[in-house]
Amino acid sequence: MAEPLYPLLSLARLRMGSDGAGVTTLVGGALCPLRCRWCINARLLREAPAEDVTAAELIERVRIDDLYFRATGGGVTFGGGESLLHAAFIRRFRELCPGEWRISAETSLAVPRAHVETALDAVDFFIVDCKDMDGEIYRRYTGGDAALMRGNLRFLLDRAGPERVLVRVPLIPRYNTPEDQARSAAALREMGAARLELFEYVIKE
Ligand code: SF4
Repeated sequence: MAEPLYPLLSLARLRMGSDGAGVTTLVGGALCPLRCRWCINARLLREAPAEDVTAAELIERVRIDDLYFRATGGGVTFGGGESLLHAAFIRRFRELCPGEWRISAETSLAVPRAHVETALDAVDFFIVDCKDMDGEIYRRYTGGDAALMRGNLRFLLDRAGPERVLVRVPLIPRYNTPEDQARSAAALREMGAARLELFEYVIKE
């Protein structure tokens, strides 16, 4: 099988507390199926040239922080665009990287189920940006279908277990209200999500 390639857009080292446990390197990749109104990566996704790298090449780039990863229980977080579009790559990365590295993935779950299945055993921790559980709010804000996200989230909670899944629930200026956010949180708890993070998007226009 051909070696999977990753369209690398950005790499941010020595992060703490923002995308998974310990010290992490956040790796940004191209492509996203959604079109969120307040996407902070929109310009990068649209205009920045991506560099295709193999898993072995990416491991060599991030290995510089190996000691930090091991000492703090951190590792590599795959971020947006949509990380799970590159699930086969993440799987290969997991096969080749040191076993102590913790692999996290930030995802909207707006991907075909097969990608979630592929990532299941390769990713230690999933950070799900659910946007909103209401189909109409979701469609207005992202252009996508909330039913796909909800179905994948149910599958992920069931198969990975709630401890490996953090669901982020944003308050989105002009798109949802604190009541909508609370409704989403309640629906998520009912679905079995145990780790929720409610927060507000800060918009600079
Ligand atoms: S899912 Fe993330 S990367 Fe994709 S458009 Fe929305 S905010 Fe941007």
